[in-house]
Amino acid sequence: MREERRTKIIEQALASGRSLLTPQECVELLSLYGIPLPPSLLAKTSSEATEMAAKLGFPVVLKIASDDIVHKSDVGGVRVGINSKEELEMVYAEIMASVKKNCPGARIEGVLVQPMIKGVQEVIVGIKRDPSFGPVVLLGLGGVWVELLRDVSLRICPVARDDVLEMLKELKGYPLLNGYRGSKPVDLEALIDLTLKVSQLALDLPALSEMDLNPVMLQEQGKGCIAVDYRMIITKPEVD
Ligand code: ADP
Ligand code: MG
Repeated sequence: MREERRTKIIEQALASGRSLLTPQECVELLSLYGIPLPPSLLAKTSSEATEMAAKLGFPVVLKIASDDIVHKSDVGGVRVGINSKEELEMVYAEIMASVKKNCPGARIEGVLVQPMIKGVQEVIVGIKRDPSFGPVVLLGLGGVWVELLRDVSLRICPVARDDVLEMLKELKGYPLLNGYRGSKPVDLEALIDLTLKVSQLALDLPALSEMDLNPVMLQEQGKGCIAVDYRMIITKPEVD
């Protein structure tokens, strides 16, 4: 079942000439592997977004939904912590104005409405397919740790539980995950579990050339983790 479904998703995307999977396709593939995601509802108008926010419960997050925009926050396309209908209406208009100004010509589907997820730390879990080694999994702490300090750790797939733990311990920022100076220790077991699922997904999908779960929100020990942003790129695998 799972195999049929994932093959179908990839084949359809390849047949339509797309290399970037839609958010809906990503959600379906990630869910097939039990990777935890927040509910994410597509709204085409401000009033639809309000309805969806009411369904999910405030506070919510709004994100621009467009295949043409990769880094949503760089263009003012992500707003977090929206607490009411009035605030949402204002933020919706601000997002649309900002995106139109920064990305004129981008095709806009609407916005994604997600519940606000509170994390203790943000991390990145990624995949990149190497021509000789196959899929390589990447782990890093979010934000400046990756962007400024390039603090990441890499392994060739498949990885086992012990490999992932070792990857985490290699990170300079590892103490931040482990309750540094009174901060709450995060759910490392959940992160390890998610990383193992990502490794399996990459091995099962030869067409997957790149994937980013960025960020994965890590919650307190015992409370899990959840991937709030995802991007998957496919290319037709070469047959030899
Ligand atoms: P992009 O990477 O395209 O700019 P993201 O979806 O990663 O967009 O959102 C940017 C940032 O907003 C994230 O790094 C995270 O800090 C925050 N964020 C995104 N979604 C949520 C959410 N559901 N709950 C809480 N914070 C979020
Ligand atoms: Mg992101």
